[in-house]
Formats: sequence, C-alpha cells, structure tokens
Amino acid sequence: MAEERTIFHKIRDKEIPAAVVYEDEDVLVFKDIHPKAPTHLLLIPKHFVASIADVTPETAHIPGMLILKAQKFAKEKGIDGYKLTFHVGKGGGQEVMYLHLHLLSDMKLEG
Ligand code: AMP
Repeated sequence: MAEERTIFHKIRDKEIPAAVVYEDEDVLVFKDIHPKAPTHLLLIPKHFVASIADVTPETAHIPGMLILKAQKFAKEKGIDGYKLTFHVGKGGGQEVMYLHLHLLSDMKLEG
C-alpha cells in the first residue's frame, strides 16, 4: 500500500517551505508554525514512521535518535531547560501522522 504523504513528508522533501533550523542525514528540525512557547521546534526523522504507536523493533531506535538530536541541538544553542513531547494517535492530540518530537522552551532560540 502506498504511504500516505503528510505535510511533513512535503517539508522533508522540500516541496513546501518551513523554517528549518537544523538538518542532517537522519533528521530535520524546523519551527512549529503555531508556536506554543518562545521556542517551539519539531524534529522529524528522515525515515518515515507514522507514530510512536507504529514503532517496531526495527524502528525503535528512531525516537531515541530524535531525543539525542534534541539534546545536542539544545546544548549547542544554550537552551538549558525544555520539554520534549510525542503526541501519540488522534486521541493523544497527534494531528500530523508523521512521527515528530516537539521541543518547547521558555528560552528564545537565537538566530
Ligand atoms: P501534533 O499535534 O503533535 O501532530 O503536532 C503537529 C504540529 O505541526 C502542530 O503543532 C502544528 O502547529 C505544526 N504544523 C502543522 N503544519 C505545519 C507547517 N507547515 N510548518 C510547521 N509546523 C506545522
């Protein structure tokens, strides 16, 4: 079955713009379009997984990888306090069915 392409697929594939603040071969980090804190970033894996609810033993490294990228990014930017959130499924508030980690902080991201 063909994978349903979400708005985050299109951001990942540069079909629609986003305020990208970091990218490497594994992850894309961009600003949330409706920020709920002075810093509100979304981290998506380049490898598509729909949700934490769909993680399998083969993809179980991905949530941990996102957390490590968030930790490294925050440290490099001097963000020393933040919240990390996964919304899981519609009942958990997940609107976009492409796994993503929210990084929220009261500290403003410089630059
Ligand atoms: P969730 O509720 O966990 O699925 O979060 C989806 C998040 O994506 C929300 O906080 C939205 O504000 C954000 N969002 C939706 N479309 C875009 C977009 N085009 N660029 C950046 N953030 C977006």
